[in-house]
Amino acid sequence: MTNITEYALRADFDNYLVPSYSPASYIPVKGLGARVWDQQGVERIDFAGGIAVNALGHAHPVLVSALMEQSDKLWHVSNVFTNEPALKLAKALVRATFADRVFFANSGAEANEAALKLARRYAHDKSGPEKFEIISMVNSFHGRTLFTVNVGGQPKYSDGFGPKIEGVTHVPFNDLSALKAAVSERTCAVIIEPIQGESGVVPASRDYLQGVRELCDTNGALLIFDEVQSGFGRTGHLYAYQAYGVTPDILTSAKSLGGGFPIGAMLTTAAIAAHFTPGTHGTTYGGNPLGCAVSLAALGVINTDEVLSGVALKHLRFKGRLEQIGQRYGIFDQVRGVGLLIGAVLSEPWKGRAKEVLTAAAAHGVMVLQAGPDVVRFTPSLVITDEEIDQGLDRLESAVAALTRDSAAC
Ligand code: PLP
Repeated sequence: MTNITEYALRADFDNYLVPSYSPASYIPVKGLGARVWDQQGVERIDFAGGIAVNALGHAHPVLVSALMEQSDKLWHVSNVFTNEPALKLAKALVRATFADRVFFANSGAEANEAALKLARRYAHDKSGPEKFEIISMVNSFHGRTLFTVNVGGQPKYSDGFGPKIEGVTHVPFNDLSALKAAVSERTCAVIIEPIQGESGVVPASRDYLQGVRELCDTNGALLIFDEVQSGFGRTGHLYAYQAYGVTPDILTSAKSLGGGFPIGAMLTTAAIAAHFTPGTHGTTYGGNPLGCAVSLAALGVINTDEVLSGVALKHLRFKGRLEQIGQRYGIFDQVRGVGLLIGAVLSEPWKGRAKEVLTAAAAHGVMVLQAGPDVVRFTPSLVITDEEIDQGLDRLESAVAALTRDSAAC
């Protein structure tokens, strides 16, 4: 009799996994740099980067050796103890940012969960139980726990799970007067993605973020920047707030933070952190030695002029060519985003068809993402080479040419 764990087929997904995803028809089995191979040996250029996670591509030698070295020493001890990689990574993140203190988690949602709970606890301790309201942005995305879907501004993710979390208001993004009308002395926090990722790659304007900072200050509310997608080098700065010149009170980071190893972090000041005393919040795996060792190694590579300035140049290379493709085939009418968080907005006749572009791109040898139904998203490795960018975009152009040909024939 065949042992069913000896093989793995795409059909097994439907038979054995909870159907909360609908993965591509091929199964990637190996990655190197910005290239991925599937079970059939088909090679694709990876512009998806594991949804802004594989910041140094696949199997980067510095990350591989950090993981191997740590895996020979210590995998896990829990937070009953501390560990050397966690301490080293916390010190490095503090040195590189506004923060004085770090809380480690395992994902972006958990980092945000910690941030939101900390903001409520801080306000509760300082001002009493009335100050618990959270203001978030329409279309924002902060993760899939019950608190984070409720704070996120997309009802499709929060409806149908019982009563909503009380005290959460959503206002339109990049609209300071809407925030001004909503904020009050009952607001404990305003949470914003400096660049909305999942809902279409929409950057905040600098004036807006400055205005948000001022409104938070006048109302005694904490400003939380969710940099889960925009952070850790993706914009050509270690964190996007550094380019905006607007400093949050709490910042959350995940995705690229681990370069592919699951890790999240919440960064804050010493005064705010002091409100999470022993026992108020926790996680078994947060700050585990393997994740922290890999993240520290990733930080060493990413937080350098060479990599960060390379991101800005690669942005221009992507944008120029995507605009050309957009014009030539009438498929995109705007290319937006910062650094290597790029969205190509589908033109009117193509609205709602991002998934079709993804599928066609994969068939032509390049992996891309969508950000909602109307935007094709690119979040490749920060160290992808110019040749890989050009080759991937050639393949994307072939996919778009085939799609537009097929559409014209219909
Ligand atoms: N916040 C933002 C801005 C994100 O883009 C995401 C994931 O896409 C999350 C939070 C949730 O992160 P995770 O999926 O690691 O929980």
